[in-house]
Amino acid sequence: MSISAGRYPLIIAGDRVETATWDTVCDRATGALIGEVAAAGPADVERAVHAAHDALPGWAACTPGERAGHLNRYAALLRTHAETIATLIHREEGKPLGEAQAEMARATEVVDYFAGEAERLAISHIQGPTATTGSYIRPAPIGVVAAITPWNFPVALVLWKLAPALAAGCTIIVKPAVEAPLAAWTLCELAEQAGIPPGVVGCVTGDGPAIGEALATHPLVAKVAFTGSRRVAETIAAWTAPRLKALTLELGGHGALIVMDDADLDVAVDVALVQGYANAGQACYSVNRVLVPHALEGAFLERFRARIGEVTLGPMATDRGLTRHRMLLDDARAKGATVEGGEPLAPGRLAPALVTGAGPGVTLIDEEPFTPIIAVMGVADIDAAIAEANRPDYGLVNYICGRDLRATTAAATALKSGTVVMNGWRVVVPYAPYAGWRGSGVGTELGRPGLESFIAWQHLRVLA
Ligand code: NAD
Repeated sequence: MSISAGRYPLIIAGDRVETATWDTVCDRATGALIGEVAAAGPADVERAVHAAHDALPGWAACTPGERAGHLNRYAALLRTHAETIATLIHREEGKPLGEAQAEMARATEVVDYFAGEAERLAISHIQGPTATTGSYIRPAPIGVVAAITPWNFPVALVLWKLAPALAAGCTIIVKPAVEAPLAAWTLCELAEQAGIPPGVVGCVTGDGPAIGEALATHPLVAKVAFTGSRRVAETIAAWTAPRLKALTLELGGHGALIVMDDADLDVAVDVALVQGYANAGQACYSVNRVLVPHALEGAFLERFRARIGEVTLGPMATDRGLTRHRMLLDDARAKGATVEGGEPLAPGRLAPALVTGAGPGVTLIDEEPFTPIIAVMGVADIDAAIAEANRPDYGLVNYICGRDLRATTAAATALKSGTVVMNGWRVVVPYAPYAGWRGSGVGTELGRPGLESFIAWQHLRVLA
């Protein structure tokens, strides 16, 4: 089996659809052209939605076991082509190849997990007063899903939607980010090669606002599953709300790492370095603020500075990110903070930045930076740390390091975020829900709740 290269047309009903205009995608490190991707118009979206709608009855009629079989074959094919896809991620988005390979491997495990969940999706029956009466609770697919995804994890954030949608019996149209669409497109092509029927997975690439509006307002689209910025989320919500469509929104974060009095500082430094600078800070689960007791601040900073030289960043995924990084550091300096590092290196590349002496009112402390900046902030005690962690209107992922499990867990439950990671940095597992609280989103991905977000429950009440 081969993967098409070079030119990436739309995938609609099993057809490869050429468009009048095409976008170019370049290697972020070298600037070399790596692909031309179709730019869909409204008529293409219309066709894609109808194809997904036409494919729905057949896919929904598959038994759970058949859907699981398809997803298992799909996961196997993703593994066969993992290196090709990881290389695409690395080139179009800029993250180091090792990070791209890890994204691909972890995201494929999500497909494995939802193949298992597909098999566990069962009608349940509650017995009535006589042998033939009762209630059947049936998990029906919600319908056609539009998945609108960002560029920073171009594979993971597609598979987090595609796998549970298919497990639930839905069909899906993937709209990847225009900045990094090639790996996502390849996922859709492989779904077909894995034997998933044409129309069940479609791919429409191109301009975000135009395609997003056509999808989010279409009467035949039952649900929009979006990951991206709050600004775009609000627009999409305004389109879906009056049409009463289901919606999940996974948005940005502003992660805090709380260092407890008894923390192992080496572990805390590890967490900060890995999660603060992963994907050059362009991760929703980034550590943005390290909240450390005044008494430990000097020791933490000494160890942090000793190890920051180990960090090598890939090129930033967008030129916007470079501009924002400069703006955030200028703003911090202007407000009296100290900035170490953060300077431009080779074209597109940045040195990781450490900011000290910054507090509320400094933009990078109040807003998701989305660039490689860690701010270290001294705090008086755990209550002050929790208050600062919860202060900005985000609630995606926070981290805590501390040896006393009882105190660490008590602090974790006081944090208003969908995930809290203790004494380490691995955030995501397929079987646990990943949810943005407050300004970080609506609804849940992954885990059983992630599957159920693609289900319309039906109660069949048999009275006689
Ligand atoms: P973005 O919101 O600009 O774009 C996301 C997607 O929406 C892209 O496909 C884009 O083409 C499309 N889009 C853009 N404008 C649109 C419009 N007006 N209508 C409809 N669709 C439109 O986000 P981005 O810059 O690609 O991604 C960065 C953001 O995503 C950050 O805030 C980051 O934290 C967040 N993010 C969240 C998670 C999570 O799981 N919570 C994961 C990764 C990224």
